[in-house]
Amino acid sequence: MTLWTAAKAAEATGGHATTDWQVNGVSIDTRTLQPGDLFVALKAARDGHDFVAQALEKGAGAALVSHVPEDVAKDAPLLIVDDVQAGLEALGQAARARTNARVVGVTGSVGKTSTKEMLATILESQGKTHASVASYNNHWGVPLTLARMPQDTAFSVIEIGMNHPGEIGPLARQTCPDVALVTTVAAVHLEAFESVAGIALEKAAIIEGLKDGGTAIVNADIDHTEILNQCAKDRGVRIVDFGRKASDYTLTHVTQSPESVHANAMVNGKPITFDVQSAGTHFAMNALGAMAACVALGVGLDRAINGLRHWSPVKGRGVREKIALATGGQIELLDDSYNANPTSMAAALDVLAASQGARRIAFLGDMKELGAQEQAMHAAMADIEAMARVDQVHCIGPLMQALHTALPQEKRGLWFETSAEMATHLPELIRQDDTVLAKGSLSMALALIVDGLRKMG
Ligand code: ATP
Ligand code: MG
Repeated sequence: MTLWTAAKAAEATGGHATTDWQVNGVSIDTRTLQPGDLFVALKAARDGHDFVAQALEKGAGAALVSHVPEDVAKDAPLLIVDDVQAGLEALGQAARARTNARVVGVTGSVGKTSTKEMLATILESQGKTHASVASYNNHWGVPLTLARMPQDTAFSVIEIGMNHPGEIGPLARQTCPDVALVTTVAAVHLEAFESVAGIALEKAAIIEGLKDGGTAIVNADIDHTEILNQCAKDRGVRIVDFGRKASDYTLTHVTQSPESVHANAMVNGKPITFDVQSAGTHFAMNALGAMAACVALGVGLDRAINGLRHWSPVKGRGVREKIALATGGQIELLDDSYNANPTSMAAALDVLAASQGARRIAFLGDMKELGAQEQAMHAAMADIEAMARVDQVHCIGPLMQALHTALPQEKRGLWFETSAEMATHLPELIRQDDTVLAKGSLSMALALIVDGLRKMG
């Protein structure tokens, strides 16, 4: 189905279309471009204009540019705008404005992608659903996702993220969500913010972007919920809260098994139960927020609970895997290698602590972007409750030296600067029936530990 015609795209962006083209998709990368896509020549590490000829050769239906590159024919299918980034944003906003889709925007310090996928899983069972790919949540990810939204979309789930102050507001205004969900507020990206209150204020910007008459879904258990509530009051939108301390969607009890969570909650005074197909109280919390958002979008609670059954964790974010060892027996791997900060690391250690198995072993890598308190925040992991049931912790990276030192002797494992070095020692460190967690910031490459463990199979 045609996504954009030259005329509609020119109208949306105020640009000039060189021919009467049409496209079925939007791409910013020639490596993943599909024939029939509109190639958007954004400037990143390299100037996208250098790739327009290649994109057209690969079958792009047209290219969004600010000038005709020298190696591109004058009669090539182009949309020429003053500024490509602004052009992409204009396309995104026009796509949003022309649909009747009910849109949910998801932000938070952790849990955006996990919750986005829960929402998409539930909503797909209710109507045509469009959602952000991976963590496409920044200044190009959000407008790209919006520009890709088909006109007949019924539900849309947009992940909205930030690294610096001031980023969420513009992205929220482009998204103009019917429902804004704030999963958590936590000490993440502290390098760029003075305090967690500052982070809460930044997250609250998603509420300012809400459509009139929209709903803010707010986590009641975080520090500074009051900042989000105040913002919702100022904006004049409905507030629905979720969490253990919430009054609308109240989590009352969680039963963990190795592969799932069974949760009890009170929803507007009525008891409900629901299941999530992965261990971790944090996933039950995300699910509760997702269910509240679905109900605010008009989906029945029973349908939301049912739809949730089809969700499973996203790659690298708490995926559990059994590995049969070549030497006999098996181990269980908790692959949480995608990223880490103190909140998500505590959540993952909780899951490890609740796991069966002969020993519970953690490979933990540096948590980045924590600012001035980074050493203390690493060392503090030694004192979290879950640590009592973890048998051994192997530490990776300069910051993790602080945790390595803080750990009691009997739990202190090896320390190496890199995952690659640690990976060479895996055969000495792992025995059959161990449950093994791998977690660290993405740049610490804990995926090498995951790969190393798989190679023992
Ligand atoms: P990013 O900012 O990198 O896009 P994100 O906000 O999309 O991250 P996820 O990718 O869903 O977050 O999860 C990141 C990590 O946090 C994973 O390890 C996941 O298991 C964990 N996590 C997810 N939800 C929560 C939560 N509510 N509380 C604590 N940890 C969580
Ligand atoms: Mg994400």
